[in-house]
Parts: sequence; C-alpha cells; structure tokens
Amino acid sequence: MSKNEKGIWVGVIPSTGVLIVFDPELQFADQKTINVYSVKRNLVREFDPAKIRDKVRTVDGLQREQALEKYFSWKVANDAELMSIEYSKLERLRIERERTIERHREFLIAHGYKYLGIAVSKKRVNRITHCWNCKSHLDNAIDVECVSCGWIVCRCGACGCGRQDH
Ligand SMILES: [Zn+2]
Ligand SMILES: [Zn+2]
Repeated sequence: MSKNEKGIWVGVIPSTGVLIVFDPELQFADQKTINVYSVKRNLVREFDPAKIRDKVRTVDGLQREQALEKYFSWKVANDAELMSIEYSKLERLRIERERTIERHREFLIAHGYKYLGIAVSKKRVNRITHCWNCKSHLDNAIDVECVSCGWIVCRCGACGCGRQDH
C-alpha cells in the first residue's frame, strides 16, 4: 500500500465484532478521548481510551488490508469531517477556557482578592512551568492571564495572587 501507514493500528472489539482504525493524525494532544474510525459505519467516533485499551484485539493480514483500504478512501473523501473534528477541538478549548476563568474568579475571592478580569496572554513561553497551587504543568493551552499579577492562569484557577512569596 502506498499510503502512509505509520502509527496506524487496526483492531476489533470482540464483543461486538466492530472493526476500528486508529490513526495518530486524527488525535489532538489536548483531547481526553481518542478519535477512532469505524469501518462498518464509515465514520469517525470519539472513544474513551480506557474502554478500548483492554478490550480491543489487533487485526492483521487481509482483514487489516481491507479495513485500511476503506479507511484511506474515507480519509481522502472526508476533509470536511476532519475539519469538524478540528472544530470540536476548538469548541472544547473554548469551554475549558470559560471554566478556567470561572475557577480563577472563585480562586481570587477565596484568597481575599478582587476579580478584575482576565487578559488573553501573548506570552509564547511561560516563565513558570508548574502551578504552585495544584503542582500541575502549565502548558499555556488556556491562554488566560490574570490582570492583577500577570501570571498565566492554571486550569485549577490559580495565578500569582495568593502565593506566599509573591
Ligand atoms: Zn493549578
Ligand atoms: Zn493574579
């Protein structure tokens, strides 16, 4: 097959016999679910990776060839579908940003600060790589910054305000 099969994996869910194709090109880093192509339904669906991992059996040989053939013709014909996956990714980011802003507002109030609003961060690289409050990695995926302290707001809502040595 001349198509790029790098990282592409074909499997079957034994309980249902559903044949699926996993392609790294359909995945997005900030997404908790995975996008999987269903051969029978000829469309891409979101799956919970935990539900797939243990159940799916790898498929090889002719069955794999046939699944890939169908998948690649879907992929070529469905730029629009790929665009809609891209769109839902943006929609998720928008929701996540709104939640972050709400948590940030609650965080400031809980620490005795006034909420003055947020700014969209133009910082390409964040000086601080880990959140002091929840210790998670600050990845700049949510580009929201506190107007009081200028820090990137973490998904937990924390900024530089309320930090002991700030
Ligand atoms: Zn945090
Ligand atoms: Zn702040």
